[in-house]
Amino acid sequence: MPRSALFSQRSLILTLLLLLGSGFLATSLLSYFASRSSIRDSIVNTELPLTSDTVYSEIQKDLVRPILISSMMAHDTFLRDWAMAGETDRTQISRYLNEIMAQYRAYTAYFVSNATSNYYQAQKGVLKKIDPLEPRDTWYYRVKEMTAPYEINVDLDMANQDKLTVFINYRVLDYQQNFIGVTGIGLTVEAVVRLIDDYQQRYQRQVYFVDPQGNVVLTGSKGGAHGARTGQSLRDLHGLRELLKQMPNPASGSYEYLSADGDSHFLNVRLVPELNWYLFVDKREDGALDNIRESLYLNLAICTIIGLVVLSLLNAMVKRHQDNIETLATRDSLTGLPNRRGFDLLAAQALHEAQREPKPLVALLIDLDHFKQLNDTYGHLAGDEVLRQFARVLENCLRQADIICRWGGEEFIVLLKDTDGGHALEVAEKLRLLTEQQDFNFNGTVIKLTTSIGLSTLQPEDTLHSLIARADHALYRAKQSGRNRVCVEMLRSEYE
Ligand code: GH3
Ligand code: MG
Ligand code: MG
Repeated sequence: MPRSALFSQRSLILTLLLLLGSGFLATSLLSYFASRSSIRDSIVNTELPLTSDTVYSEIQKDLVRPILISSMMAHDTFLRDWAMAGETDRTQISRYLNEIMAQYRAYTAYFVSNATSNYYQAQKGVLKKIDPLEPRDTWYYRVKEMTAPYEINVDLDMANQDKLTVFINYRVLDYQQNFIGVTGIGLTVEAVVRLIDDYQQRYQRQVYFVDPQGNVVLTGSKGGAHGARTGQSLRDLHGLRELLKQMPNPASGSYEYLSADGDSHFLNVRLVPELNWYLFVDKREDGALDNIRESLYLNLAICTIIGLVVLSLLNAMVKRHQDNIETLATRDSLTGLPNRRGFDLLAAQALHEAQREPKPLVALLIDLDHFKQLNDTYGHLAGDEVLRQFARVLENCLRQADIICRWGGEEFIVLLKDTDGGHALEVAEKLRLLTEQQDFNFNGTVIKLTTSIGLSTLQPEDTLHSLIARADHALYRAKQSGRNRVCVEMLRSEYE
């Protein structure tokens, strides 16, 4: 194959590879980025706010009602009158707290008196005396000094096997606004925690509550994002460092940040005003994009396979096409025999082999006799048909290995491989005789034909040109001496 053809074939395949590859890559990436941005959109604008809403309404149900109940207790005239009258009948306060508990299905209900330091609890009566030195009682002294009417405190409940409980600690004031104690109810946050757990598991979202100072106040049972635990400050969470640069203190809004391990996160923060807590709903981008990333890889794999199949088919087609062109270029279209170009390629190879071995090689130059006359008599189409049929005679008479070529016009050349002069003369004679005896046929008309043949044998210093030139001389002599005969070359030694 010529170098230029090879080069253009290669550059054609390369160009197509580039076009197909970049086309497939562009569409795959475009669709990947489009789905990615729509998924991001839906996370930021729909999913996280929706989770936030649901958790918010649940926490409202669970926490806002207890605040109202605690407020009602703190303003109850019975409770205040009873405390101010010296806390004499303890069954009365127990009954009161029990009623509250039963009525509102609270987990616990309590009153701590400032005058006596007694801790009254619904079922257990006087649970204990509170003590400023007791760490578990510090909450009371904090509430006592507080200006806000109440606080929400997530703590362990001593009266209930130390379960995690949310206490609404409401300040109780007498009618002159003097502080006389703290009352309220407690409830377990199991329902909220269950809800948070459910969200964390089902949707791989991290849900947790943070107070305005940035302390985690409530998480799911397995902790919040980045291992956040109740009581921990956001500042202590390694994974949130980047977020805290955008949001030094909790503030409502949508955020995107990178965690310490390089994962991209989406975060929705909203204030729950009733609790003065911030609800954090956090989602890692990676998990959400796993599916579309997989489909991107699948897309690319399919495109690669299709591309390779198309290219190899194309390559095969181009190659076949080129082979066809080459065959056309080296074959004579009338007889199907190699033309002069084809002969050059085959002959060079044969000559090289014969001289290397060395082995004998004979050239026969064959010219049809009075062909012009044949054309004139039967017509040019008949001449063509005779040329075709003569080519078949040549092929039938010679071996597969011999090289047969239409030299031009009504001349043919044959190279007999591995054949000496004597044997070649027999072959040429046979060919001449066969032609003479053959009935050539055109549209039912029988045409007779004879040939003149010049024969030359390969000499050690021969080139293809010199070998054929001697066969040509011999052919000339055959014509001169009457046609329909074989003449053998005269070597220089024979002249002398
Ligand atoms: P001779 O060789 O015996 O001296 O006589 P000739 O008539 O064969 O001699 P010449 O070489 O002058 O003529 C060859 C003729 O062959 C002339 C040309 O029209 C004819 N010829 C060459 N190629 C073709 C071909 O492809 N088809 C046909 N029909 N005729 C062809
Ligand atoms: Mg001729
Ligand atoms: Mg002729």
